[in-house]
Amino acid sequence: MQPAIARVALPVPLDKLFDYTIPATAKPVVGGRVSVPFGRQTLVGIVVELSDHSSFAANQLKPLYQVLDNAPLWPEPLYKLLRWCSQYYQYPLGDTLSNALPSALRKGKAAEWASVIEWQVTESGKNQLMQGFGRAVQQAKVMQMLASGPLTQQAFIDAEVSSSVLKTLSDKGWISRHEKKPQRAVWPVEVEAQVEKPKLNQEQAVAIASVNSQREFGCYLLEGVTGSGKTEVYLNLIKPVLERGQQALVLVPEIGLTPQTINRFKKRFTVPVEVVHSGLNDTERLNAWLAAKDKSAGIIIGTRSALMTPFANLGIIIVDEEHDASYKQQDSLRYHARDVAVMRANQENIPVVLGSATPALETLYNAQSGKYHHLTLTQRAGNALPTTNKVLDIKGLYLDSGLSAPLIAEMRRHLVAGNQVMLFLNRRGFSPALMCHECGWIAECQRCDAYYTYHHASNEIRCHHCGSQQPVIHQCQGCGSTHLVTVGVGTEQLEAKLAELFPEYKAIRIDRDSTRRKGSLETALESIRKGEYQILIGTQMLAKGHHFPDVTLVALLDVDGSLYSSDFRASERLAQLFIQVAGRAGRASKPGEVILQTHHPEHSLLQALLEKDYRHFAESALSERKVAALPPFSYLTLFKAEANQSALVEDFLRQVRQTLEINPVFEQGCMVLGPTPSPVAKRAGKYRWQLLVQTQSRPVMQKLLNSAKPVIQMLPNAKKVRWSMDIEPQDLS
Ligand code: ADP
Ligand code: ZN
Ligand code: ZN
Repeated sequence: MQPAIARVALPVPLDKLFDYTIPATAKPVVGGRVSVPFGRQTLVGIVVELSDHSSFAANQLKPLYQVLDNAPLWPEPLYKLLRWCSQYYQYPLGDTLSNALPSALRKGKAAEWASVIEWQVTESGKNQLMQGFGRAVQQAKVMQMLASGPLTQQAFIDAEVSSSVLKTLSDKGWISRHEKKPQRAVWPVEVEAQVEKPKLNQEQAVAIASVNSQREFGCYLLEGVTGSGKTEVYLNLIKPVLERGQQALVLVPEIGLTPQTINRFKKRFTVPVEVVHSGLNDTERLNAWLAAKDKSAGIIIGTRSALMTPFANLGIIIVDEEHDASYKQQDSLRYHARDVAVMRANQENIPVVLGSATPALETLYNAQSGKYHHLTLTQRAGNALPTTNKVLDIKGLYLDSGLSAPLIAEMRRHLVAGNQVMLFLNRRGFSPALMCHECGWIAECQRCDAYYTYHHASNEIRCHHCGSQQPVIHQCQGCGSTHLVTVGVGTEQLEAKLAELFPEYKAIRIDRDSTRRKGSLETALESIRKGEYQILIGTQMLAKGHHFPDVTLVALLDVDGSLYSSDFRASERLAQLFIQVAGRAGRASKPGEVILQTHHPEHSLLQALLEKDYRHFAESALSERKVAALPPFSYLTLFKAEANQSALVEDFLRQVRQTLEINPVFEQGCMVLGPTPSPVAKRAGKYRWQLLVQTQSRPVMQKLLNSAKPVIQMLPNAKKVRWSMDIEPQDLS
């Protein structure tokens, strides 16, 4: 007898399953999709259970509309992992499962390879290629792109070619369009390509042998400075995995920043390598997902969300730059991809490798306590020399747009020698505030508890919290004076100042404002590598993943903000930034120099970093965390709430606090802090408060949240405010 009821998880923000009756001819499967009526809509959901009983009367239930899959979408271990994520991160199961799917499947499309549109040069097009295209620059560009073989429609979208150019060329008969259904690839016998490989050093060999000696679950921290050959280790770990017919998953913080790394994987192996990132369209994403699931692809390289890709036979997971903050999702399912990767490896019973030059303190702690194996690479391949580092005491010095005279002199020295100089300032815009010189009034966003940032190039003031913007104002709204001055320095101002100080050298700014256009970051990085610019100005963005061998001087203009931040992770991030940039400057023949401008040269953290190394810094930071009972010596959950009225939000979190405090689990060493206004107390017109819960163990946190959550959901204000729980938050704002 077939079951009568399907229990379905739907993408709605409700913590429950929905029962539907199963029509006689339908055969739903657990882990497969169905479409169902929901109010007046039709939704796509996942069948979680099949049953003969429902707690609702039969006449209250509706039949499901359609069965969309005859088989489960996820292999069993991944399906279990997704259910675990929903539970652990306290996020509804329906939303969790739905978010783990490519959007084409979320919309109900068939789980099979989708056709992509491809263009190619025709015979008459080939003739035309010889003759050239005169002044038709865009047409020439397309023809050149196609000269080496057919390309998908997406390639032209990426290259910012308008579809009218394609149409013109196809009307002329020079190019033609086809629909192509991707084929499932069969792997060649020889998985490794014939390429030159470096001879491994001792440490690399040890690291590779340790991981390869075992096929079962094990977590490895691979700690090695930039250029010490971590990627080479990854490649050597993947090879035997592919040889035994298994697949590899490689997570990276940001795809756009790592084209060279991706090419190394593609060149090294003959099996298909799929790259999964936010720039893919629906079809490409679906195809990549299927390529992993059907074992067409051998390697999947992707950002955070690629962790949820199903594999036919996964053999290893690698998380590169495991300390990177982008692995934590900041909304909806607030998971940490590095932590979940370890969980996934555990469930699939395979090794997982976490690589970094600057491991997160949590990870280091796990390695030190023996939970993870600790592998280290200490030698930089190619004999690059370590940088010389120094703090520059700027107490009492005049700062010209953030630059002290000794720094300017040092810059000149490096520039005259024909090298590149890189400056970091983690504030974009021209200046972070616009103030009245007469009365001190400061232009503030009406919707946020924040100042407007002045942007000179667009002549606007913008709020970096809600995104609102308006033309720059010329009169004080307090006293009417027209004497407005800018306060503080952003990257845009620094750029203007450098043009003035060093007119003979070209400067380029890399931040979110200057790289908004798709592909503009890649273009900028390329021209830096070609040496078209001598001065590079950037926010943190510039530090990730690039190697600039001609940069011999790196300066962090303002480190004091990180030393004295209210976020306990700020100093860890500063240390990581410092090591990352130091690791990327200079090369064997040209040693690099790193300068930190600070008012607090005696600060113990700076001393540990400069005099010793990251490990020493980490050890002293860990002992501070231990004293303060901060992670990894405790576990945190951040409740956040917002609404139009401040009192409503505060009341709600007060009730949450009471709910937690009267819970029997709370006595097992739990603490709660708050409610307090969030660091940005008002954003986009909403008042924001937060409440921090601390426990001594993960299981206690889980028990407390699981038992308190149903009560919290029933609180009178729970429906009047927008609230969320962030388990193990990375960002306390
Ligand atoms: P990381 O990933 O730690 O930054 P890479 O693996 O990219 O380091 O190695 C940095 C450079 O050194 C690359 O050009 C790589 O080909 C080279 N390399 C790696 N291992 C060795 C080795 N054992 N001998 C010589 N060169 C090596
Ligand atoms: Zn605002
Ligand atoms: Zn004024």
